[in-house]
Amino acid sequence: MKFRLSGEFGELSPVRNWQPHTGIDLAVPENSALRAIGEGTIDHVFDGSGAIGKGLSIEFPDGTRAIYGHMNEVTARVGDHVSAGEVIGLSGNTGNSTAAHLHFGLRSPDGTFQDPTPVAEKLAAISGDSPDLGILGKLATFGMEEVRGKTADLTTEVILGIFDALKDILLGVSLVGTALCIILKVAGWRDGGRWAGILMVANILIKYLFGGF
Ligand SMILES: [Zn+2]
Repeated sequence: MKFRLSGEFGELSPVRNWQPHTGIDLAVPENSALRAIGEGTIDHVFDGSGAIGKGLSIEFPDGTRAIYGHMNEVTARVGDHVSAGEVIGLSGNTGNSTAAHLHFGLRSPDGTFQDPTPVAEKLAAISGDSPDLGILGKLATFGMEEVRGKTADLTTEVILGIFDALKDILLGVSLVGTALCIILKVAGWRDGGRWAGILMVANILIKYLFGGF
């Protein structure tokens, strides 16, 4: 699953009354299945009345907790034992949130918040049932994981935007081209069938390369 970092750990913003961000924000489309990043017990469910919106907290055997916020639906209940990869609910845009995203936090047994960025990759890897990114998408995401920070994230957004636009253009051209070649074939162009086939293969290749952006 594509998890784009949209808010960093420790970030200061008026949105949070200038309090350091206790976790990271990951741009996740609404209603994506969210999974437990490790085996543990649900120790808290947020009902949606607070800033964090709907969400939950999983306590791991070592006492560390993982916090998920701004969810649309929480399917796990307090006391539930969850294994790594088990679906715990759907991502969303509830609480103090301006766009679909997952707030993900890690809290040490002593109550301090850790930077969950390294674990975010695991979370992304475990959440497998969203559209495949395709080879180019994976490369772009990998690039983002390598270079962090505000500017880097902005660059990634721009790159992903360009990929997205490029994919749409190429898909459009190959589809329209295929249709045109078929029409020309019917009209008597001998090579029309061959070109329609080539464009159709190109269309499939583009879809494979760019994946579900
Ligand atoms: Zn957050």
